[in-house]
Amino acid sequence: KQERPQDIEELKQGVLLGERARLARAITLIESNSPQHFEYAQSLLQSIMTHTGKSIRIGISGVPGAGKSTFIEAFGTFLCQAGHKVAVLAVDPSSSINGGSILGDKTRMEELARNPRAFIRPSPSEGTLGGVHRKTRETMLLCEAAGFDVILVETVGVGQSEAIVRGMVDFFLLLALTGAGDELQGMKKGILELVDMIVVNKADGSNKTAALRTKSEYSRILHFLKSPTKGWQAKSLTCSSLNGEGIPALWEVIGDFTELTKQSGVFEERRRMQAKEWLYSLVNEQLQTLFFQNERIKRMLPQLENEVIAGKKTVTQAVHEAFINFYK
Ligand code: GDP
Repeated sequence: KQERPQDIEELKQGVLLGERARLARAITLIESNSPQHFEYAQSLLQSIMTHTGKSIRIGISGVPGAGKSTFIEAFGTFLCQAGHKVAVLAVDPSSSINGGSILGDKTRMEELARNPRAFIRPSPSEGTLGGVHRKTRETMLLCEAAGFDVILVETVGVGQSEAIVRGMVDFFLLLALTGAGDELQGMKKGILELVDMIVVNKADGSNKTAALRTKSEYSRILHFLKSPTKGWQAKSLTCSSLNGEGIPALWEVIGDFTELTKQSGVFEERRRMQAKEWLYSLVNEQLQTLFFQNERIKRMLPQLENEVIAGKKTVTQAVHEAFINFYK
C-alpha cells in the first residue's frame, strides 16, 4: 500500500496512540527502499521526534542455541506483567546476505507475540547491514513514540552485528552458556568488552551448579576487562528462561545501571555520541555509494585493480587517479 501525505498524519496519530496496526504500517514505510517512500518516512519520523527517547534500549546477543528467543519470551512477558510495554526488534546479519530472517521470528516467541503490551518486529529482510542498521534505529524511534518503554534488540554474534547493536543501545547483555572457558574459545575476541552484563542461561535442573560456576568465572574475567560504560562494572548473573528464575534479579541490576548512569550523565552522553556516530556512519555509507556507483569509477576500477595486483602501480597512485576521475 502506498502511503500518501495525508496518510502520514493519520499514521502519526496511530503511532502516538500506540496502535499496533498503524505502528506496523509506519515501520513498513520506513523499511521501504523506494525514494518516494523515503521522503514520507522522513517527514513522519521528523514529526514524532519529540516523543522519542523515553525508553531503555537493551541489546541482547548470544550464539545460536544460547536461548535468546526463549529468554526474550520470558523476560518480555515478565516486563509486561510489571506494567511495561516491550518492543522486540532484531538485527540479523544473515538477512542482509541471504534474504531470510532467522531472528525476531514471531513463531519463536508465541506467548509474547500474543501479549497486547508487546510488539515484535522481525529483522528488515533486505539490504546491506548498514541499511538494516538504519531501519532498526528508526523503528526503535517509532516504537518509543508509540509508548514502548523497553526496547529489546536481538542479534547473533556474527560479523559486525554486535558492534552495530552496541552502538544503538543503552545496555548490552550477552546470553551465555555453561562453560565459560570452552565458550570463550569460540567467542569473538572483544565481545566481552562490549557487554554490561553476562547472563548464563539454562541455570536449571542438573545444569544449575555448572551455571553458577560459569557465572563466577565470567565475573573474574570481567573484572580484568575495561567496561564499555564509564562508572559501571560489568556483572555476571545466571537465569533460567524456562522457569523464570533470575529474571527479576537481572532486571533489578538493569535498574541500578540506569539510575547510576543517568545520575552521572553517562546515559545521556552515550545517546548523544551514538547519534553523532550514526550521522557519520550514514555520511560514510552515502559517500561509498556515490563513489562506487560513479560510471567513470566503475569503468576504471578493474584496470586499476589489475595494475595494483601486478605491482605496476602503487596503491596510493591508483587511489589518486581514481579520485581525479571521480571529481571530474
Ligand atoms: P536461540 O538460538 O539463542 O534463540 O535459542 P533458543 O531460544 O531457540 O533456545 C535453544 C534451545 O535451548 C531450545 O531448545 C530451548 O528450549 C532451550 N533453552 C532456552 N533457554 C533455556 C533455559 O533456560 N533452560 C533450559 N533447560 N533450556 C533452555
